[in-house]
Amino acid sequence: MPGTPQATQLAILGGGPGGYAAAFLAADLGLQVTLIDQEPNPGGVCLYRGCIPSKALLHVAKVLEDARQATNWGVTFAEPTIDVGKLRIWKEGVVRKLTGGLGDLCKRRGVTFVQGRAAFVDATTLIVQTTQGEEQHLTFAQAIVATGSRPTTLPHLTLDSPRLLDSTSALALSDIPQTLLVIGGGYIGLEMGSVYAALGTQVSVVEMTSGLLPGVDRDLVNLLAARLKQSLAAIMLNTTVVAMHAEPNGIRVTFEGSEVQEPQQVFDKVLVAVGRRPNVQGLGLENTRVEITPGGFITVDAQCRTTEPTIYAIGDVAGEPMLAHKASHEGRVAARAIAGHKVAFEPHAIPAVVFTDPEIAWCGLTETQAKQEERAIEVARFPWGASGRATTLDRNDGVTKLILDPSTSRILGVGIAGSGAGELIAEGVLAVEMASLASDLALSLHPHPTLSETLMEAAEVFFGQSTHVYRPQRRRSSAAPRVGLAALDGLEESG
Ligand code: NAD
Repeated sequence: MPGTPQATQLAILGGGPGGYAAAFLAADLGLQVTLIDQEPNPGGVCLYRGCIPSKALLHVAKVLEDARQATNWGVTFAEPTIDVGKLRIWKEGVVRKLTGGLGDLCKRRGVTFVQGRAAFVDATTLIVQTTQGEEQHLTFAQAIVATGSRPTTLPHLTLDSPRLLDSTSALALSDIPQTLLVIGGGYIGLEMGSVYAALGTQVSVVEMTSGLLPGVDRDLVNLLAARLKQSLAAIMLNTTVVAMHAEPNGIRVTFEGSEVQEPQQVFDKVLVAVGRRPNVQGLGLENTRVEITPGGFITVDAQCRTTEPTIYAIGDVAGEPMLAHKASHEGRVAARAIAGHKVAFEPHAIPAVVFTDPEIAWCGLTETQAKQEERAIEVARFPWGASGRATTLDRNDGVTKLILDPSTSRILGVGIAGSGAGELIAEGVLAVEMASLASDLALSLHPHPTLSETLMEAAEVFFGQSTHVYRPQRRRSSAAPRVGLAALDGLEESG
């Protein structure tokens, strides 16, 4: 039986990057906050089983790859020996450090953290089951649902075998298999496939569409695909898995598709990474007026408020893209809205990064999207073959491109493929959010020699005046921004 009812001003279900960002800001704004999550500390999938542990392992993969490539520079290391137990302990230490830090931040801000599961009884009451087995009612003025998402499972891709992995068990790194099939050439498949390939596993990727990372601009993906062809055992496109059977020595997989060469193969392990779906089940939402879209997401408005006025929803559960930084931003919008501020979630550029090698990053309008929407754009590309810094790193396999409005030169989107693209995209986000013109990037001094110069030079390419790319001067339409062009001319004269 539930004990004495408790009360809180703001209850938050889910302690991931959305939930804890909302909790911390709400507390900073003077609200009394209760944050509920099943884990011992805040962090969510991102910190416990996603972004953070995968990036710790991808860092190791990068070090291994760099050490291999060093032979080209006259430095040859011995073949690495990998102590998988120690690697696991290091990765878990990273997670513990960050989640423990979040636990401390909760205490210092006066946020009440409850380890347990919560479900709605009605629009102002939750029933909370703590991990200690207690059950209590918690009334609230407002609640935020930040329950995230979980891996999609497909009936014919389900098998009761420890050899079958999802992103969580793949990150657990119980061993380094000799062979691994990754089903799904998206974010998780390529990031985790890259980790295992660097650790010595023969990794094959099967993707049902005609290319890796569907929806991402092909020029960016092509640079990644070229490198993956060297590090992966096979990339099977236009191919699906139609059956899987556990055998004593592995999982026998049957493939179907126009490009299939070997219809049946046996793999030590199989990782299924075919997408994620929002966590809306078991939350008692049926006891409220919260509406769910046909795609399974909670319907929200620009303040992240659901169709039940006391309940807000943020992050993966509230719609695509399912990215931690989008969740955090929405969390802060919801906290401000609840505190009575006039605020809306309306970013022009949500960055996305695939942490492979090379990394792929983009924000704002993409070429693919512009084509679908039949929007007139101009694309200014700076190939990293012309970058001094990329050459010193022996990583000329990159490109930085700006997607521009041809009539105003406004930067609408940025796409980057190359080593460290994930860090570089932040400048692109600022450019798009600030409605920067090509001249703003071209005229801002960028430190030399750095990869950040590729953004400046991409803007110079737009004007046909890139220092390191020779293109005959283009004639720009009279609608082009006079300030930008005049200033560029001035720069040349004074230069
Ligand atoms: P995804 O949507 O990125 O990729 C799934 C891939 O599987 C797609 O390419 C799809 O065409 C393919 N696919 C689907 N069904 C298939 C089938 N039956 N056979 C073969 N291929 C099939 O999904 P994901 O990789 O599982 O990641 C889920 C989400 O998690 C991402 O969309 C992203 O939002 C998030 N994520 C982000 C990051 C990051 O920001 N770096 C990293 C990991 C995950």
